[in-house]
Amino acid sequence: MKLVLASHNQGKLQELSAILEPAVAGLELVSYDGPEPVEDGTSYLENALIKARAAHAHTGLPAIADDSGIAVEILGGSPGIFTAIWSGAKDNVANRQLLLAQLKDIHEEHRGAAFVCTIAMVSEEGEQSFTGIWPGRVAFEERGEFGHGYDPVFIPEGFEVTAAELPPEVKNSMSHRAMALQQLIASLSSGL
Ligand code: IMP
Repeated sequence: MKLVLASHNQGKLQELSAILEPAVAGLELVSYDGPEPVEDGTSYLENALIKARAAHAHTGLPAIADDSGIAVEILGGSPGIFTAIWSGAKDNVANRQLLLAQLKDIHEEHRGAAFVCTIAMVSEEGEQSFTGIWPGRVAFEERGEFGHGYDPVFIPEGFEVTAAELPPEVKNSMSHRAMALQQLIASLSSGL
């Protein structure tokens, strides 16, 4: 069974293929090179659905798309769907620095946050979605060399290190994306 990943990001294709293909017999995750829709949804789910619907419509194949971000409690759940452009530009360093600056006087007990990932799947049979939430808190400064995005400023619950200090295999076994993917794998394996 071919499943289209509605993303032009080759790194994401490799990361998801490495998890999905061994887990679901007969599955082949393929890239999408069709038009990318405007992500004008107001939630992770809406944006994931917009991308998956576009890829399904263009290819006729079952399609998946993910949308993710970080929700900070004291910011009322922001940056949320604006995570990638929180500083006004798609700039990971500026985004992290702005978040640290916004929280600079906030004590540890009020720095709660969570990474969230929603995966939408759209096929002839209908639409489904899977969400993983990885709770933790925002660090006081950047630490760690692994990972990407906000990993250096996120301390997962149960740890005193940031997600960027965790070996990738540890992060990838427990992250928001891992949780959503496990639900997707269960659904694909049950034959839908
Ligand atoms: P996207 O949905 O994969 O494009 O991610 C949206 C935003 O969330 C980007 O700024 C990412 O850097 C951030 N983000 C999503 N997942 C993670 C993660 O696992 N670690 C760090 N940042 C993440």
